[in-house]
Amino acid sequence: MLRTGTEYLESLRDGRVVYLGGERIEDVTTHPAFRNAARTIAEFYDAKADPARRDVMAYEEDGELFSMYYKRATSAGDLAARTRCHRELAELSYGFLGRSPDYIASFVTGMSILPGFFEERAENLTAFYEHMRKTDMYAAHAIVSPQGSRDASAYQQANYENPSCRVVAETDEGVIVSGMKMLATGGVLADEIWVGNILPLSPEAQAESITFSMPVATPGLSLWSRKSYEREAVSEFEAPMAARFDETDAMVLFENVLVPWERVFVHNDPMRSRGLYIQTPAHSYGNHHSNVRFAVKLQLLVGLASRVAQANGAHKVPAVAETLGRLAAMEALIDAVIAGQIQACEEWPVPGYVTYNRRMMYAGLNWGVESYSAIIDTVRTLCGGGVLQMPADGTIAQNPELFEKFRTYWHSPNGSALDRMKLFKLAWDLVGSEFAGRHQQYEKFFPGASFIVRGHSFREAPWDRFHAMVDGILDRMELPGPVAGVPEAAE
Ligand SMILES: Cc1cc2nc3c(=O)[nH]c(=O)nc-3n(C[C@H](O)[C@H](O)[C@H](O)COP(=O)(O)OP(=O)(O)OC[C@H]3O[C@@H](n4cnc5c(N)ncnc54)[C@H](O)[C@@H]3O)c2cc1C
Repeated sequence: MLRTGTEYLESLRDGRVVYLGGERIEDVTTHPAFRNAARTIAEFYDAKADPARRDVMAYEEDGELFSMYYKRATSAGDLAARTRCHRELAELSYGFLGRSPDYIASFVTGMSILPGFFEERAENLTAFYEHMRKTDMYAAHAIVSPQGSRDASAYQQANYENPSCRVVAETDEGVIVSGMKMLATGGVLADEIWVGNILPLSPEAQAESITFSMPVATPGLSLWSRKSYEREAVSEFEAPMAARFDETDAMVLFENVLVPWERVFVHNDPMRSRGLYIQTPAHSYGNHHSNVRFAVKLQLLVGLASRVAQANGAHKVPAVAETLGRLAAMEALIDAVIAGQIQACEEWPVPGYVTYNRRMMYAGLNWGVESYSAIIDTVRTLCGGGVLQMPADGTIAQNPELFEKFRTYWHSPNGSALDRMKLFKLAWDLVGSEFAGRHQQYEKFFPGASFIVRGHSFREAPWDRFHAMVDGILDRMELPGPVAGVPEAAE
């Protein structure tokens, strides 16, 4: 099924419990904190359902249409088709939706290639994958335990309650879970929340190892949103990115929530709870999406950097042109890393299926985590003080006398005053606003802290091959003669 934006918006009016500070949000599709973001997701669905884009956005199986990102790849061509779909979808939001509907869907699609990994719960996972693609579901995920749950010694103290989501009881119908998980980006706008563990758990953390998915509108489940940047954006003129693309982040609280057995994918198994991301193609499919999204975001930033340099009249200065060339080279590099993941795809984890090259995917992920702040800083440097030299807001246009002066004194040979005001407002929303700051934090942490991301590259590296090269040189390095004082046989 390919659902439309209208159908998506309709489904959000389901009684979900969302808190913004002390306020309970009744309808996220109309509330000024979330309505534009909801419309942005609706536009995503409309673009995907557009018959003119069908070849890119969908595939057919047994006479039914499904979103392309549910396709399980059996060839490099299939992977390329998935990539193209991710790219065109990311372009709708300039790469500023990290957890768009194609993100978690890709994780679950990757898992569905190896249902046997889930042993006695394999059917649950397969049924969930089928349900997701048949309903064209938007799932968010919360797969990190809150910071208050990481100090095991605290549990020894009297009255310290572990705040992490865990199983507190089992019934014939399912498990009862209580506690919190972080940090569901897009959760406020999603149909379901996938809950699990991306960080390794200790063997004793049996109750926390629960992995499941539940509709957002489930009794006992509430979302605690951070501050809304959309609400503070005022209009698209004042903050063009925050006004449309504030995808939301929320803590997820479970208070005695019943999770039916058929929605449980891992239970009492800390190793499997984390392993499902890296021992199935989940990480490869899901994080390839992140690489593609990052590349699109970088294209916007490179374009902005150049436009700002033009507006400031600095673009012909050799040092500035060199900076722009460096940014453009970075953009080409991540595109090459994406193409490489397809060209060097792996037949894994079972014969007949292929996945994006995992080492290259992790390399792209790490590169993004390490580079984003530096890229933003470069664009910021090019902006100079222009971002803070404009009148406070667009109401300047309502005062003819002031507006005339603005037009006279703020223009430059490279653009009118109003054009410059618009450009620098966009620039501020990408490098300096609270929305921009959130994105710096997002790119640093969305796949886990950097030491976790580098740990994936460490795990997957072919150390035997690397060591063999070093050892081959060492083997050739013979002393020119016998070692003094040591019999030749003992050397
Ligand atoms: C904007 C945003 C959106 C997010 N969206 C999601 C989402 O949709 N779903 C989801 O599940 N999670 C999401 N996350 C959460 C993210 O997964 C976590 O923030 C991330 O795992 C890091 O955990 P933490 O914030 O508790 O930081 P910590 O783990 O507390 O790390 C804080 C700092 O300490 C350092 N540190 C801690 N321990 C070590 C160590 N052992 N060795 C070296 N350094 C260490 C880290 O490198 C980091 O610099 C999001 C985060 C952000 C910022």
